[in-house]
Amino acid sequence: MNPLPRRVSIVEVGPRDGLQNEKAVIATADKIAFVDRLSAAGHAAIEVSAFVSPTRVPQMADASDVFAGISRRPGVRYTALVPNQAGLDRAMAAGVSEIAIFAAASETFSRRNINQSIDQSLATYATVCTAAAAGGIRVRAYLSTCFGCPFEGPVAPERVAAVAGRLLALGAFEVAVSDTIGVAHPGQVPVVLDAVAREVPLNQLALHFHDTRGTALANVLAGLDYGVTTFDSSAGGLGGCPFAPGAAGNLATEDLVYMLDGLGIQTGISLAGLVESSRFIESRLDHPLPSRYLQAARGGGAPGLLSLAGTGY
Ligand code: MG
Repeated sequence: MNPLPRRVSIVEVGPRDGLQNEKAVIATADKIAFVDRLSAAGHAAIEVSAFVSPTRVPQMADASDVFAGISRRPGVRYTALVPNQAGLDRAMAAGVSEIAIFAAASETFSRRNINQSIDQSLATYATVCTAAAAGGIRVRAYLSTCFGCPFEGPVAPERVAAVAGRLLALGAFEVAVSDTIGVAHPGQVPVVLDAVAREVPLNQLALHFHDTRGTALANVLAGLDYGVTTFDSSAGGLGGCPFAPGAAGNLATEDLVYMLDGLGIQTGISLAGLVESSRFIESRLDHPLPSRYLQAARGGGAPGLLSLAGTGY
């Protein structure tokens, strides 16, 4: 392997990508408390909510109230997902300084997910990005189905790279190359990155993995080896997988931080604080969260590697 980075940035997507895909209705005050717990745990980038259609996504209908209620810590980025100009207008009114837009590498996924072709969606985002830049707002971009599509199957890395390059050209400061259905494996990661890195510099690339088939951490390791230093994850593994009911979705932040801690890579995030945050939001859900680390911590053992001492290993 190549030398590992000394520090990695984690983008916490639990309050948005996670809660948006949970069935339970979470009170606005609990969402605010969850975000504040995550920032207290050391998160420096938190995707807080989405300014999307309240009828289509009722879980995010209180985005303005959540942004009004959180305690903004200096140096922490609080991001909102925005699909169009109307969303941007609401985000700006709520004092949001960083938005996220979302496009797909698969044409069929784009049409099924947002009812627009890739070209149509990028035309919408061009307007949004211009307005955001004029308002001094930073834009992050998600690119979904980079490792496979639920409708088309395999997605050509060149196709991923082309759309990633167009998102960067629109003004995004970072493109999160995302494994929407959790099919990526460590052999595939460098193949996709070889193509994407020709269009997007490595320091403007993030990886967003799902653990649906148990490969998320192995994929992170492959990404680290390649030189990527920004990874998305969700506290406790919040969110599930909309394409495989009952299966895991977002990589759990605890599992990621535990591995990075073990590798001596700094994240600035306290595992204990993170576990406390996840337990808090878990108490508002109708099911246990899937994070392996959280499950192990629930067993009452010491939280780290040293807990092996004296247990018979
Ligand atoms: Mg996700």
